[in-house]
Amino acid sequence: SADKEKASNVAKIKVVVRKRPLNKKEIAKKEEDIVTIARNTNSLNVHETKLKVDLTEYVEKHDFFFDAVLSEDVSNDEVYSETVQPIVPIIFQRTKATCFAYGQTGSGKTYTMQPLPLKASQDIFRLMNHTYRNQGFQLFVSFFEIYRGKVFDLLNDRKKLCMREDGKQQVCIVGLQEYRVSNVDTVKELIERGNASRSTGTTGANEESSRSHAILQLAIKRPVDGNDSKPARLVGKLSFIDLAGSERGADTTDNDKQTRMEGAEINKSLLALKECIRALDNDQGHIPFRGSKLTEVLRDSFVGDSRTVMISCISPNSGSCEHTLNTLRYADRVK
Ligand code: ADP
Ligand code: MG
Repeated sequence: SADKEKASNVAKIKVVVRKRPLNKKEIAKKEEDIVTIARNTNSLNVHETKLKVDLTEYVEKHDFFFDAVLSEDVSNDEVYSETVQPIVPIIFQRTKATCFAYGQTGSGKTYTMQPLPLKASQDIFRLMNHTYRNQGFQLFVSFFEIYRGKVFDLLNDRKKLCMREDGKQQVCIVGLQEYRVSNVDTVKELIERGNASRSTGTTGANEESSRSHAILQLAIKRPVDGNDSKPARLVGKLSFIDLAGSERGADTTDNDKQTRMEGAEINKSLLALKECIRALDNDQGHIPFRGSKLTEVLRDSFVGDSRTVMISCISPNSGSCEHTLNTLRYADRVK
């Protein structure tokens, strides 16, 4: 059908880079902007200043190419239309899609991710009220966090949840709260509630939340045989994942044992994620889900007709050069 054709036109994997502007602190420290974006050629360039043994400085230039590169003047609306919007219609055709934000803490992952589910649900409701009017589609929201390798429900008092694999090798999170929603305001309330429930240790909100993966899911369901009294069956799913700060994966030599273990867990999950996406891209039969809790949870989103969007967030300042290069190399490997 025409719809099927449209679905196959949406790229299976899309890797996008978003650069944030220099912030006040970086400007005050007279830090240089070392990232140049060429949107028309989908390329970007990082100018790395290095030191020779005789202490003279020289610049090494690194070029990267992605599906799209978004400069600091690109709005959240544009990010949405460049990344998630093309996927929304095909969720109604049994597709599962996942959008990740990857990058070091402070690079703009949360800033980028937070508006996306709201904009997506707005478009989902528009489709339900027009194209799919009176066809019985329903929208459900769930929101959870993976912290220290464990799953916590952000819409149910951080209840700790377990995962179970059924006979068909489908993984489900037992007891995860799903809220049926019928307007954007309710979606907004749920997102705000979930965000307020994210892990915040004694060291401050951003510090702790940077050690967890936050996963918000929009599920489209439809009652079997259009019969409202029967339980609704999953049609498609859209997952938004605000990943742990990529630099946390390097905390494996920290003096604090807890921090080291968290670092190792994060490192493992980000590596496993990369391997899974690469396996998807190569259409390999075997996808290494079992590598981490994160990939196990996402298993049902990777099998069948799936779409993946990776938004790699980068900081522009010279002080972040190493992290920026690491993020770009990770994104490069995913593609
Ligand atoms: P992360 O989630 O990766 O740790 P945040 O999303 O919290 O990073 O962003 C860090 C800070 O930078 C926040 O104050 C945020 O508002 C700001 N910021 C991030 N990206 C942008 C952007 N594209 N434009 C303007 N401000 C941004
Ligand atoms: Mg964040």
